[in-house]
Amino acid sequence: MTNTPKRQLRLAWGGATDQGRVRANNQDAMFADWGIFVVADGMGGHQGGEVAANLAVRTIANAQRDTAEELHDAISAANSSVHNTAAEQPELHGMGTTVTALAIIQNADGPQFRALNVGDSRIYRMRGGQLDQLTDDHSYVAELIRRGELDEMSAASHPYRNMLTRAIGVHPEVEIDEWTFEPVHGDRYLLCSDGLTNELTDVEILKQLQRSVDPSSTARALVQLANNRGGRDNSTVLVIDVHVENINDIGEASSFTAQSSPILTSPEEPSTEETHTTKAFRSTAESSANKGRSWLYDQVTIKFATIVIALVLAVATTATITSIGWYARSGYHVSIVGDHVVIQKGRVGGLLWFQPTTEEWTEIQVTDLVLADQERLRDGETTQNLSEARNFIANLRERLIRTEAGN
Ligand code: MG
Repeated sequence: MTNTPKRQLRLAWGGATDQGRVRANNQDAMFADWGIFVVADGMGGHQGGEVAANLAVRTIANAQRDTAEELHDAISAANSSVHNTAAEQPELHGMGTTVTALAIIQNADGPQFRALNVGDSRIYRMRGGQLDQLTDDHSYVAELIRRGELDEMSAASHPYRNMLTRAIGVHPEVEIDEWTFEPVHGDRYLLCSDGLTNELTDVEILKQLQRSVDPSSTARALVQLANNRGGRDNSTVLVIDVHVENINDIGEASSFTAQSSPILTSPEEPSTEETHTTKAFRSTAESSANKGRSWLYDQVTIKFATIVIALVLAVATTATITSIGWYARSGYHVSIVGDHVVIQKGRVGGLLWFQPTTEEWTEIQVTDLVLADQERLRDGETTQNLSEARNFIANLRERLIRTEAGN
């Protein structure tokens, strides 16, 4: 009788997401649960990106995904779902999202990692003090770099650095990069959106990953660093630690206790105060159901020891935030940014983390205004809509002209 060594694969993970310092909302989404880790970075229009990323992530979360084929189908289903929704709703036309996913599948040799990627979100692997980007970016500048027509330095400031060559939901069909590889003890994986990689170099990311702190703290620290650098985009980070152990080495009571724990929000999830997270981990009611069809086999047990990621924003919270966001972003006002009179969308001074965005810039400088108008605009002049704001500017301009004529 052969005595096949029994191995146990244990994954510990943590994540963080943040809207950053500039964007009005968070168009990234992520999902982590029972052997599947997904980061999506939406794009398109006022709300389109947010819808696309969440729709893609939700579709993958709810799909069967135990095999390579099922995972492929899950990503394809996400593509159809985003594409069809965009076609049905004109205000979402043109929306799309990146999707990068790391999943566990089971084959004859035991559990394997399966990676799937569309777009420019990335999977990195840290092994032996070295960081490797496993995914190819599907972006215009990355294609130029691969063809040797652009170097990394020029790419960082290239005007089209955000232009994607492949994304979920843009076309009826999508080409997916996908491949399988072995889990190796001690590896640390990072899934992230470009909000992280546009702010930090690979060396800086490696330095942070090398600190032997738990995945949640590491994820939060990386997002915080991206914000400290300017946070010009939403940034999302998932960190996954791989432990492969021989069952005999660790005794009998090792895995199944933790495994049978309910999947609920982890106390170690990112603090909303710390990171201004408006949406973080996503799970669904499916999570519990999925436990029944986990990827456990005789020879391998899988323990989820450290962190379990679940639904952070309950439906009610999401609805509240959505309505606050709607209110905060409704209406326009005329105010002064720098030295110039501008039209801004949103409430004067912002509301919670929803800051107004500049919709139209004018050449009128604050010093060109009569004193009364200067004072009025310093407090912001609220208008119902864009055309009322434009009328206000037109009147302002007339007063300006008369003042100049009077001088
Ligand atoms: Mg982004």
